[in-house]
Amino acid sequence: LMLVLARKLADRTAQPLEQKEEELEQEGEKLQTVRSEFAANVSHELKTPLTSIKGFTDMMSSGMVKDPEDQKRFITMIGVEVDRLIELINDVLKISELESVVIPQSDDRANVLSVAEECRAALGQMAEAAKISVNLSGDNAEVAVAPGRLRELLTNLMENGIKYNEPGGRVDVQAAQRDGKVAITVSDTGIGIPKESRERVFERFYRVDKGRARKTGGTGLGLSIVKHIVLLYGGSISLKSEPGKGTEITVLFPAVR
Ligand code: ADP
Repeated sequence: LMLVLARKLADRTAQPLEQKEEELEQEGEKLQTVRSEFAANVSHELKTPLTSIKGFTDMMSSGMVKDPEDQKRFITMIGVEVDRLIELINDVLKISELESVVIPQSDDRANVLSVAEECRAALGQMAEAAKISVNLSGDNAEVAVAPGRLRELLTNLMENGIKYNEPGGRVDVQAAQRDGKVAITVSDTGIGIPKESRERVFERFYRVDKGRARKTGGTGLGLSIVKHIVLLYGGSISLKSEPGKGTEITVLFPAVR
């Protein structure tokens, strides 16, 4: 502690160059805090399904569960928890990939509506089961984003539009090119997001309704991955929502000239 205090005092009287070093150090410290908070949250999120799995396996191995139907049910529940773990680990890996590996390239480009069409096909079964129609429209525009990243972004937004919706609802994806930018809007007719949560949905692990979230699945990382991709490619994101009516998220990316 004395050493730290002495150093702080010395820093205070130091030259501008060294002050800059201190600023950098503080930035580094801040990043470190964010990282260790993230690690703590991930560990917590991993613990919940693991605790359930441990509970089920303990019951099974104690011989208390004799009915074959009950045994089957337990194994199914273990499978559900394992799926949750896999989904969580995939999202965490995605975040660390976005933080360290992905570097935008000057020749990155993707056609918005063709990538959206791929996402619609991939989400087809989910949309059908939830009785949601997914519609694509707008300009044949290209953005300066790697196609794989745009696919991740759109999949997350479209999947949310389907998950947080009501049977018979719709999800619309629209592309519009203007002034060297492309606006991609994903809107849904779903449950909406209450005002006090609108800023927070982009935070890692934040969910509006934890109870509902457990049923719908998901990790609470989807929109933070979306935001990461947006920032990485020099874009911006905005959200409009009305509880009971729906949500509209617009992403602006630089267009390909
Ligand atoms: P999740 O894996 O829980 O879907 P996200 O980061 O994608 O995580 O979203 C965070 C939370 O924001 C969700 O749990 C949900 O409560 C809310 N949310 C996201 N998209 C929508 C939407 N289109 N309509 C209503 N609520 C949404």
